[in-house]
Amino acid sequence: MIKIGSHVSMNGSDYLLGSVKEALSYNSNTFMIYTGAPQNTRRQSLDKLKIKEAHELMKQRNINPDDIVVHAPYIINLANKNPEKRQFAADFLTEEVKRTDAIGAKQIVLHPGAHVRQGVELGIKHIVEGLNKVIENTKDSDVSIALETMAGKGTEVGRTFEELKRIIDGVVHPERLTVCFDTCHTHDAGYKTKEDFDGVIEEFDRIIGKDRISVFHINDSKNIIGASKDRHENLGYGQIGFDALRYVVIHEDFTHIPKILETPHITKTDETKKRLYPPYKEEIEMFRSGIYNPKFRDNIRKQQQ
Ligand code: FE
Ligand code: FE
Ligand code: ZN
Repeated sequence: MIKIGSHVSMNGSDYLLGSVKEALSYNSNTFMIYTGAPQNTRRQSLDKLKIKEAHELMKQRNINPDDIVVHAPYIINLANKNPEKRQFAADFLTEEVKRTDAIGAKQIVLHPGAHVRQGVELGIKHIVEGLNKVIENTKDSDVSIALETMAGKGTEVGRTFEELKRIIDGVVHPERLTVCFDTCHTHDAGYKTKEDFDGVIEEFDRIIGKDRISVFHINDSKNIIGASKDRHENLGYGQIGFDALRYVVIHEDFTHIPKILETPHITKTDETKKRLYPPYKEEIEMFRSGIYNPKFRDNIRKQQQ
């Protein structure tokens, strides 16, 4: 059985319980959440999140809590130029790791950081220092921080496997770090994720070790290989394509690893209003069946008439 889901929201009055319900509505057996809005640091108190109810429902419906993935907000930049902002980022990430633990999840995905023209060297140094603080602050926790492979947009650190390896080697407790492999990002960074996934994994294995991969982000890409853009696309509508993505999803080396879709919602403009519909139920179904429907976006729009 493939382990696949999507990112889901955790707002509304049901919070984590609502996330589980949303995941189940797509026939997912894993899912990813932000503990609050990805672009700010306001967070709801833990006792409001319906954690217990969510776990009861997961148990009934056979979702393993170990397969819940949390994503840290993008505003966290451990490589910030300003030391106070770096400290703030480390403090906030500490809180997010604690929330991940309280939710009962085992990993939190992190964009390593952006060096903002300080250069990769200094960027990596700051990221390592920040991670050491966070790991030290949460030393009783077994939550791992999954460094995401980045597209290399702007001054993002983590575009190459070598950069991620240097971060992992730099921290005092590398056993707390894993990797989130994003298919769109590695493709945009110049890796042949589409043409030669096994070759890319071989390279990853040589540099980092493929058993570090704890989650995949499965996204098609709007851009050509090496474009350094990071613009996700729906399955088969982008440059990677359905077959190459399904190859990753069903790969026998990673059957136990959660695969999370972060493909864009489908837009439909009626009269003056623009509406958005999640594509995940259809995308997951196509991965499970292996049958690609090139008209699935049109079908989703039609169903909404
Ligand atoms: Fe991400
Ligand atoms: Fe991603
Ligand atoms: Zn992305």
